[in-house]
Amino acid sequence: MSTSTTTDARSTTPGESLFPALEPLLARVSKPIQYAGGELNSVVKPWNKVDVRWCLMYPDAYEVGQPNQGIAILYEILNERDWILAERTYAVWPDLAGLMRSHAIPQFTLDAHRPVRGFDILGVSFSTELGYTNLLEALDLAGIPLHSVERGDDDPIVVMGGHAAFNPEPIADFIDAAVLGDGEEASLLVSGIVQAWKADGRPGGRDGLLLQLAGTGAVYVPKFYDVDYLPDGRIRRVAPNRPGVPFQVRKHTLMDLDQWPYPKKPIVPLAETVHERYSVEIFRGCTRGCRFCQAGMITRPVRERNIETIGAMVAGGLEATGLEEVGLLSLSSADHSEIGEITKQLADRYEGTNVSLSLPSTRVDAFNIDLANELSRNGRRSGLTFAPEGGSERMRKVINKMVTEDDLIGTVATAFGNGWRQVKLYFMCGLPTETDEDVLGIASMARRVIETGRRAAGSRDIRCTISIGGFVPKPHTPFQWAAQASPETIDHRLQLLRDTIRADKQYGRAIGMRYHDGKPGQIEGLLSRGDRRVGRVIEAVWRDGSRFDGWSEHFSYDRWVRCSEEALAGDGVDLDWYTTRERDYDEVFPWDHLDSGLDRDWLWEDWQEAIDEVEVDDCRWTPCYDCGVCPQMDTQIQIGPSGLTLLPMPSVRADLLAEA
Ligand code: SF4
Repeated sequence: MSTSTTTDARSTTPGESLFPALEPLLARVSKPIQYAGGELNSVVKPWNKVDVRWCLMYPDAYEVGQPNQGIAILYEILNERDWILAERTYAVWPDLAGLMRSHAIPQFTLDAHRPVRGFDILGVSFSTELGYTNLLEALDLAGIPLHSVERGDDDPIVVMGGHAAFNPEPIADFIDAAVLGDGEEASLLVSGIVQAWKADGRPGGRDGLLLQLAGTGAVYVPKFYDVDYLPDGRIRRVAPNRPGVPFQVRKHTLMDLDQWPYPKKPIVPLAETVHERYSVEIFRGCTRGCRFCQAGMITRPVRERNIETIGAMVAGGLEATGLEEVGLLSLSSADHSEIGEITKQLADRYEGTNVSLSLPSTRVDAFNIDLANELSRNGRRSGLTFAPEGGSERMRKVINKMVTEDDLIGTVATAFGNGWRQVKLYFMCGLPTETDEDVLGIASMARRVIETGRRAAGSRDIRCTISIGGFVPKPHTPFQWAAQASPETIDHRLQLLRDTIRADKQYGRAIGMRYHDGKPGQIEGLLSRGDRRVGRVIEAVWRDGSRFDGWSEHFSYDRWVRCSEEALAGDGVDLDWYTTRERDYDEVFPWDHLDSGLDRDWLWEDWQEAIDEVEVDDCRWTPCYDCGVCPQMDTQIQIGPSGLTLLPMPSVRADLLAEA
């Protein structure tokens, strides 16, 4: 399938609604409600009464993108300013994309169905690199030139954010800028520069604006950097090609989460979405030091929200949305210094109401059972989830997941003794130094869980589901130097594991197994650690029809392999070179000029310690081990206890009874 731009966005008027043209098409597509807009708490502002206009995009379908916390936060912060307008757009499914092309309807926002091309800034948040082809599709549908160098003064500045922005090089040709780290203050910084540039008569045109943004040292503009390669394909150096553009671009760190209690009034979806709950981020960052975890590494240091702000956010968020489920989110929620008080006081406050609380914590210890008991006071008892990540003790030392099998067994014994009947365990396959035996350790662990559960519960009605993902080495982690396991290796080990569980007559039927084959992981690996040359592969697969690569029913591994071979021919590099090759200490990475604060030598030492199976503690409770982030970013760990309390607020039910 070939793709071409049939959309003439230039014939549309900026700010004008496309809904009259779009509406007749919606009856012909799946789930048309996802394109309708008009949700509770969405905002539509007059086009001509603001200085700066943002279109925020999550590059996946509405059902996945709508609950995205990052977009929800920016949408509110930007719309709270009377001089800024922010609307949202999502990836449209291929059925509607086809109709939009044939009817010359460009990519539109959901809020007022305005053409995306008319906005000043298109801000795209990537949590996964598998969304890249959806950005290209949206740009093409919008009528925005695909390559940043072809864009004119009237085209939006395409700004990338989200975790993938810590290596934007594979899509460097398609974006104008990337912002690393927390977006709350950064989005306002960018808005202010755009506002002033417009007010001043757009000095220097588009490049003038980009130069101003790059000059802050906080916004990465790829086209102002040249990349030189060595004859063997590795990078020789990445350097600015304009005066005033810094060698390094720094990530943003928001230092007082209590001052930024967003989202306050998140949008309530009309169509079904993956989560329908009010989510409060109870802290940001993680210093547990799991070596595979990019999110933990790039969001350091830990910064907690206090119990008072959390309580106020929950009360306000439920009132503004009518939602009845609250998620207390973070990378490791049970690690909040006041989590016991937070869960207890919230459970007290909402006891007897329909409000349920959830804590997506996967820490393996008995404390979690207390929390789970607290949280299930109001709701049903779903399964408990833990994430040992590695199947053997040795593997868990390599990845710095400081959990012993005895810890896990002790925890599940408590859980099953307290009435729980299901446990879900998360693992990864393909970790550095992993052997077949390490993966088979998953089966023996699941077996012990069932055995323990049957004994503790005095019942055979016990289930353990193991969920296994393929490991992808990520930039800015100690494993950035590691060789990724090939899809064949992953598939072989998963097959061994499945055969072992199936052959277990005593416990096998009580163990469920969920996994994906290793192919999408290899493509994610290409996009995660790729450089600018990978952009040609992304463009080629998109032109060949790739969309929604994160969805197994749309993902075509064969197409990615074929297009990689064609697009990289002549460069001396290929798919394996980017993925299954181990890197040396002195290799220049495509992301080395993007500063996450982590000291490169510390990452290397941590990688060597991983190979030696040496663990590192959490710097929240042990002395700083000099990862570099705090001095480099001028930040520090912020943890409680704050000594604050939600009490003496009466419970919501008491209020209701008094009213009755
Ligand atoms: S610099 Fe020290 S205290 Fe700060 S995150 Fe790194 S190890 Fe922890």
